[in-house]
Amino acid sequence: MMAIDFDPQAFRHALHQYPELSNHEAQSARTIAAQLCDFGLTPHTGAGGHGIVVDIAGREPGPTTLLRADFDALPIHEHTQLDYASCHDGIMHACGHDGHAAALLAVAAELCQTPPKQGTVILAFQPAEETGEGAARLCANPLLATRHIDNVYAFHNLPGFAQHQIVVRPSTFACASTGVAIRLYGKTSHAAYPERGVSPANAMSDVMRMLTQLPDAYPSTFSLVTLVHAQLGDPAFGVAPGEATVMATLRSDDNATFHAMQTRLVDHVNAIADRAKLTVDLSWHEPFIAAENSTAHNQVVVNAAQSLGLEVHWLKEPMRWSEDVAEFLARWPGALFGIGSGEHHPQLHNPDYDFPDAILATAKALFCRVITHHHGR
Ligand SMILES: [Zn+2]
Ligand SMILES: [Zn+2]
Repeated sequence: MMAIDFDPQAFRHALHQYPELSNHEAQSARTIAAQLCDFGLTPHTGAGGHGIVVDIAGREPGPTTLLRADFDALPIHEHTQLDYASCHDGIMHACGHDGHAAALLAVAAELCQTPPKQGTVILAFQPAEETGEGAARLCANPLLATRHIDNVYAFHNLPGFAQHQIVVRPSTFACASTGVAIRLYGKTSHAAYPERGVSPANAMSDVMRMLTQLPDAYPSTFSLVTLVHAQLGDPAFGVAPGEATVMATLRSDDNATFHAMQTRLVDHVNAIADRAKLTVDLSWHEPFIAAENSTAHNQVVVNAAQSLGLEVHWLKEPMRWSEDVAEFLARWPGALFGIGSGEHHPQLHNPDYDFPDAILATAKALFCRVITHHHGR
């Protein structure tokens, strides 16, 4: 056993000061990997972009558990008075991924001092969460793709919940979501002779109505379509329009429903366009699948929280936002949970947001308790 002196708060502040956008996390990755090396570990770097994967093996054979933390930042201008505020203009850690990474390093330090008895703990530091790209890439990397993993755990800090509260759900924790852009092409004409062109105006309103009614076909799930943008022709009184664009965001708490909803949308759009003699260009953007928890793994989190005397909050509905840790949970069973950042804490992605240092110890303790459950210590 060796004594390790690691200060997760100081480490987080250092990450916070030099935030990097998704797919550009080179410096942060070097900082994290160097810290893991200081602990005596052998991290694999450059996984799925700037990802880092490191194994901590127990003395005896046993199960494999993966703990995941993201570490990318956002294109937001920081408005805080912190002495460790962002030094990168227009980029900030507004989602608390600096805290997620620092907490996982604290777990690494603890597991180096008191290793698991059985099996292997994998720590995965994932890049590019905000763009929904990092998790799928990391899961597909040979370091993980072919491995048998029994348990996956990750947390997100949650403003609006009491600080230290553990937020859980035995099924879907965070929704699937995707953007869709639908472009309809006809032919412009003189506004005095609209019949000489092909206007997408009626089809556009049909598409918009169809989109808002789409979730009605799936009453047993939480499904939502939000119209976010629409444009018809150009602002010219003399021209009947020849083009239209409709953009929307789709969400669902169920991956199968989400897939069915997308297929149904394409069928309806094609039918509407055919009737109106329009051509269609349809594209999907920023797709995330739903983060579906295993009931058993969620219960492991609940038991760990209770054994630590932490308050547990059971979500009635899933979070409507998306988390690409869903890619891990689609391959291996596990649980995503929340740790309350404080009821009146600034919201995620706000310019005055800062990860609450107080919950670093909570996250570390909870993860370590979960590891003890699966691996012994
Ligand atoms: Zn975020
Ligand atoms: Zn986040």
